[in-house]
Amino acid sequence: MHNAPSFSLATLGVIESDYPDKFGIPRQPGLAPAARATLTLLPPYDDPLAVRGLDAFSHLWLSFIFHQSPERWTPLVRPPRLGGNQKVGVFASRSTHRPNRLGLSLVELTRIELEGGVRLVLTGCDLVSGTPIVDIKPYLPWVEAHPEARAGFAPAPPALKAVAFAPAARVALDARADHASLYALIKQVIGQDPRPAYHADTARIYGVRLRDVDVKFRGRENDATTLEVVAIESLEKTR
Ligand code: SAM
Repeated sequence: MHNAPSFSLATLGVIESDYPDKFGIPRQPGLAPAARATLTLLPPYDDPLAVRGLDAFSHLWLSFIFHQSPERWTPLVRPPRLGGNQKVGVFASRSTHRPNRLGLSLVELTRIELEGGVRLVLTGCDLVSGTPIVDIKPYLPWVEAHPEARAGFAPAPPALKAVAFAPAARVALDARADHASLYALIKQVIGQDPRPAYHADTARIYGVRLRDVDVKFRGRENDATTLEVVAIESLEKTR
């Protein structure tokens, strides 16, 4: 048996996103189009020449490291999409627990900022703040879009739940300058029901951190189709 060579990767840039924590981030990019992110390139990759022509593309592939996942991996994983109790092979999944911890996300490029460095402004990304990016490539729809492809245990986007706001949460939201985009982000993120499948108990209050707030929500008794945001708390106060 041959020893396969191993390779090391350089971090080209770092993501700053609306997601301070992993919990609640949608499981694929594009599921929360209201999510904003910036990719700041690091020296020596922050050369404007390296992104010349990139602004002619609307979407990019980002290769990144699941830096918040453990290095250990197992051949079988339990995709949340299968309720967390059926196993599939790690290579039949998009699990974060994989050899090399490499992730791949298709994101929308809004604009490129070149003053004092190189920053790519992105929408719809599914990455936690601080994620190291190891490659960037333009997306070519005529090669890479296959809407007719078979998609195994994830044949369609997950169904969204309705999101209701308790009066106090509504007041806190309306007081913010970014209320419209934060409202959209909360509906898109909480609507995916980030509660762990086997712990979804209606009495329990869960928190998802978005931008600079902790969004507290819970299920509703006798209404499995709606989640209720009960409070929106500033992270500065809760930390
Ligand atoms: N689109 C990518 C892919 O297919 O490789 C990521 C899919 S993965 C299922 C998406 C989840 O990764 C998110 O729900 C979030 O909880 C988690 N995640 C995002 N950034 C991460 C990071 N830097 N380290 C570990 N987990 C991360």
